[in-house]
Amino acid sequence: MKMLKTVSAIGLILFWAGTHPVAGGDEKQNSKPDGCSSSCGVADGKTASKLLKNVVHFSDDDVRFRTADGINVFVDPVSWPMDDLVVKSGMVKPDLILITHSHQDHFQPTILQEYFKLNPRAVLAGPPDVAKVVREKGMEASEIKPGQSYTMAGVKFSAVPAYFLEGDSHPKANGWVGYVLQLDGANYYVTGDTQPLPEMAELKVDVLFPLLYGCGGNLEQALKMADLTKAPFVVPVHTGGHEEVIKKYLTGLPKGVQGAYYKDAKLVVSP
Ligand SMILES: [Zn+2]
Repeated sequence: MKMLKTVSAIGLILFWAGTHPVAGGDEKQNSKPDGCSSSCGVADGKTASKLLKNVVHFSDDDVRFRTADGINVFVDPVSWPMDDLVVKSGMVKPDLILITHSHQDHFQPTILQEYFKLNPRAVLAGPPDVAKVVREKGMEASEIKPGQSYTMAGVKFSAVPAYFLEGDSHPKANGWVGYVLQLDGANYYVTGDTQPLPEMAELKVDVLFPLLYGCGGNLEQALKMADLTKAPFVVPVHTGGHEEVIKKYLTGLPKGVQGAYYKDAKLVVSP
């Protein structure tokens, strides 16, 4: 019996080590950017409300996550920390800030300075042009490359290419990205500003946050992203605040895919 207990304890430790990232430090991994680990599939059977319990979406592109361990991850935080909705959400003090690209609706250095005042030890990462500006403003930043996987501030994530084939507003050469975050056994993919890309079919995604409207994105492309990733849950962001477009999008999702969106930072789950 004693032996059994010891074996169970070791098994538990091995399981924990396999599913939990090491806290602190910047550890780059050259693995395939599939956003998938031993945790893949763990989200099976979960509902949208459960998966989005510790997630909030403000304004167009500002998506925030809190892990079960209380680590706050902000993607493109462009809402001020003193904003009413931000304060009410409690998602105010970042541990990890990830920036997708340098367009001002995703990246506001002055606002980031306010977040660093709240947590000077926060880790910030983004593509090279973002990191350059952040450093010029006196903050620290790590550079992100599309196709790479990372662990920062105790969070595992992959950087996925984000670009448009047409026009020069989001060229591939800029190295801009979206992020697949591995949080509490589920994979959350924030696409950033991108067209649907073949790379998306390689990802393992539980909840997709696609660009829906504006900056070159549109409803058809966002539907294609849902199709490519085969995500069981989809939450459109970068919506321009157009609720009618959001609803049209959600009703157009593939059968069996559940959609949800945020209205005034409150989750609305579609039937
Ligand atoms: Zn953009």
